[in-house]
Amino acid sequence: MAVCAICAHPAPVQCAACRKVAYCGEEHQKVGWTKHKKLCKILQKIERGEPAPDPKTYCGLCGTTSLPMRLTRCCGRTVCEEMDETGWTYERGSCLYNHDRYTLCDHHHEEEHGGDWKTCTKCVDYYKDPETVAWLGTNRSNFLDDVLPNPPIFTPKHCSQCGKVVKKHAESHTGLPSGGMLCYSCKPFN
Ligand SMILES: [Zn+2]
Ligand SMILES: [Zn+2]
Ligand SMILES: [Zn+2]
Ligand SMILES: [Zn+2]
Ligand SMILES: [Zn+2]
Ligand SMILES: [Zn+2]
Repeated sequence: MAVCAICAHPAPVQCAACRKVAYCGEEHQKVGWTKHKKLCKILQKIERGEPAPDPKTYCGLCGTTSLPMRLTRCCGRTVCEEMDETGWTYERGSCLYNHDRYTLCDHHHEEEHGGDWKTCTKCVDYYKDPETVAWLGTNRSNFLDDVLPNPPIFTPKHCSQCGKVVKKHAESHTGLPSGGMLCYSCKPFN
């Protein structure tokens, strides 16, 4: 099964418009839509064989055309970088920042592992946790045509107190010294 673009858990829900992105449920589909909607329109055009914009003119992750474009250092693809009028970067909102920090593609390049990141065992050894490997290789900071083809299957983590599944990379949680974790609702001091 496909994996969710937000959390890497199994994803039975597809974007009905482009069928290129999948989600674990409506909640993450909603979360993903803001950054997906512009790219979704472009993907639909390509799918229908209509003239689509030059890939160098829009962000390959969110489809925007209205922000400055940069090339990713790892794979040389066009992404947006949000800046204010002084040229300072709003790093958190920037697709460049997200691809740099939350993908195997960039980690692999940065560590100079060599070869294709999608078959790299050094990357897998480095992160160890299969949920993290699956997420870094498939989340929405990756380009849709360049994701981990067979992300590792992982056993979902559960909250040590209430037993609820914790989507580790998409939900706030607290790690416990014992190695377990507490979900957002069970976390002390809420
Ligand atoms: Zn999800
Ligand atoms: Zn779509
Ligand atoms: Zn973007
Ligand atoms: Zn890259
Ligand atoms: Zn690697
Ligand atoms: Zn809990």
